[in-house]
Amino acid sequence: MASPAFIDHDYDVVVVGAGGAGLRATFGAVAEGLKTACLTKVFPTRSHTVAAQGGVGAALGNMAEDRWDWHMYDTVKGSDWLGDQDAIEYMCREAIPAVYELEHFGVPFSRTEDGKIYQRPFGGHMRNFGEAPVQRACAAADRTGHAILHTLYQQSLKYKAKFFVEFFTLDLIMEDGACRGVVAWNLDDGTLHRFRAHQTILATGGYGRAYFSCTSAHTCTGDGNAMVARAGLPLQDMEFVQFHPTGIYGAGCLITEGARGEGGYLTNAEGERFMERYAPTAKDLASRDVVSRAMTMEVREGRGVGKDNDHIFLHLEHLGADVLHKRLPGITETARVFSGVDATRDPIPVLPTVHYNMGGIPTNYMGEVINPTADEPDRIVPGLMAVGECASVSVHGANRLGTNSLLDLVVFGRAAAKRCAQTITPDTPHAPLPKDAGEHSVAMLERLRTADGTRPTSAIRLDLQKAMQADAAVFRTAETLEQGCRTVDAIAETVADIRLADRSMVFNTDLVEALELENLIANAKATIHSARARTESRGAHAREDYPDRDDDRWMKHSLAWVDAAGAVTLGDRPVHTYTLTKDVDYIAPQKRVY
Ligand SMILES: Cc1cc2nc3c(=O)[nH]c(=O)nc-3n(C[C@H](O)[C@H](O)[C@H](O)COP(=O)(O)OP(=O)(O)OC[C@H]3O[C@@H](n4cnc5c(N)ncnc54)[C@H](O)[C@@H]3O)c2cc1C
Repeated sequence: MASPAFIDHDYDVVVVGAGGAGLRATFGAVAEGLKTACLTKVFPTRSHTVAAQGGVGAALGNMAEDRWDWHMYDTVKGSDWLGDQDAIEYMCREAIPAVYELEHFGVPFSRTEDGKIYQRPFGGHMRNFGEAPVQRACAAADRTGHAILHTLYQQSLKYKAKFFVEFFTLDLIMEDGACRGVVAWNLDDGTLHRFRAHQTILATGGYGRAYFSCTSAHTCTGDGNAMVARAGLPLQDMEFVQFHPTGIYGAGCLITEGARGEGGYLTNAEGERFMERYAPTAKDLASRDVVSRAMTMEVREGRGVGKDNDHIFLHLEHLGADVLHKRLPGITETARVFSGVDATRDPIPVLPTVHYNMGGIPTNYMGEVINPTADEPDRIVPGLMAVGECASVSVHGANRLGTNSLLDLVVFGRAAAKRCAQTITPDTPHAPLPKDAGEHSVAMLERLRTADGTRPTSAIRLDLQKAMQADAAVFRTAETLEQGCRTVDAIAETVADIRLADRSMVFNTDLVEALELENLIANAKATIHSARARTESRGAHAREDYPDRDDDRWMKHSLAWVDAAGAVTLGDRPVHTYTLTKDVDYIAPQKRVY
């Protein structure tokens, strides 16, 4: 291909991603009268949000007394004091109207006897500042994400949002430190596009696929994070990777924590309910990092179940077929298909599996991306926002509580749309793009499309996934992390020897996977280098050689820049330990639409 011919588009707002966060931002911006486009590499309802099972957290108090400040306390504690407290306060307060808004949009929540939204207990959610578990997870059976994503898509159709489906976004267009839009490749016909926007909102999801065993979809390759890295901006808190305690042994598919919320429990080879030893109050409903570590300890100490003593049992059979059918139908089916177990009769074999990325693109609680300097730790990047799992707001800090992600999607998706309304006058003309805008991305695409080395994408990806699984695992040491940094850096070098079989521009999935691999590598590098640097244990980051939390040295967000040559530079910025309560001027509450 000689010089690229771009098809150009102009919008007030461009959203990249059509999961829960992207859709909520998209129709929110349309509702504010802004000309908005949503680009997505898969059809919107195929986004990973569709797989969320257990629920969305909000202190509605439908089952027993509950309060948003209890929710806030649990979230700050769950984050192991790495979450930004202004953002956490915003999320927990807004949770209540956000869930009612979802209800009014049409989400088919499960119901209590008297017709209210059903809520189940979930790990780490407690009443009265940690006293005892509370039922806070608003659930649509065990298919909450499915119900929410479809409803948000229907709302987007109602607002006539403009979608560009199967448009693979390659890069941000940056000029003088500001974002001017994005470059994208239309998979369907091979054309290349430039979108100019006054605000670009990244909502590209997580990067679970950097690991060998994960619960996330194959599309979760951290593309937005990598675009940000390529633009010379930092990623934040990337060492914090959440392992979910109950991935199905072997397959990695998720069994929701809601299963333990409904009364399920874990046992070791001795039939012991060992969580009672590790977390006497919350037991099987302790936060995910605690349960994952306890399970790993049991297996390490020889008390794992199965012929290799290498996993744990999750019991649901005592709940009875009726409860399983009504409250957990999806996971009963998943257990049957992926482990051949009838959950009404036998325990399900489970193991901790990568589930969520706490780290990502640093933002404030309005969704604006941050590019800190020493003097200005909260300096924003004009024209660029991020929401959902790709963002680090940071409401999850070092460890996310279950149900707080679906919540984060809708609360901050909406906040981002509101912020766009405050900062953009509809139809403001765009300045011309820099002359070479997009050419660098096309060169990257061409390099891969014509690559004629010896190693297929899948082989390099497998090496990467195995290295991350082995060396950036539930427990970490300087030794494993140093080894991991060397291995991941060496694997990155092998991309020079990549071989693609398909040379076309139309629906070239070979090329898509190669682009995604490069994105995964950028995420993996930031993760493992940040993990090596953090010499303490906090949240999901458990260092055997530094078992304690070290607030004096490490109560700060880590930052990682991954440059074009693949070198990683590290830095940090302060945690927000102040709340919003004194400053009630957060996003125009009087303009709420629910
Ligand atoms: C199995 C499972 C169960 C879960 N259960 C729960 C739960 O019960 N409660 C809870 O709170 N959280 C849960 N989570 C977490 C939560 O579901 C996710 O964090 C959340 O759905 C992520 O949403 P998102 O909108 O950020 O991204 P996603 O839903 O992952 O969507 C990403 C979007 O970005 C687009 N995209 C990505 N890259 C590109 C590109 N290069 N170009 C164009 N488009 C691109 C994709 O097409 C997609 O539309 C669960 C997660 C998993 C994996």
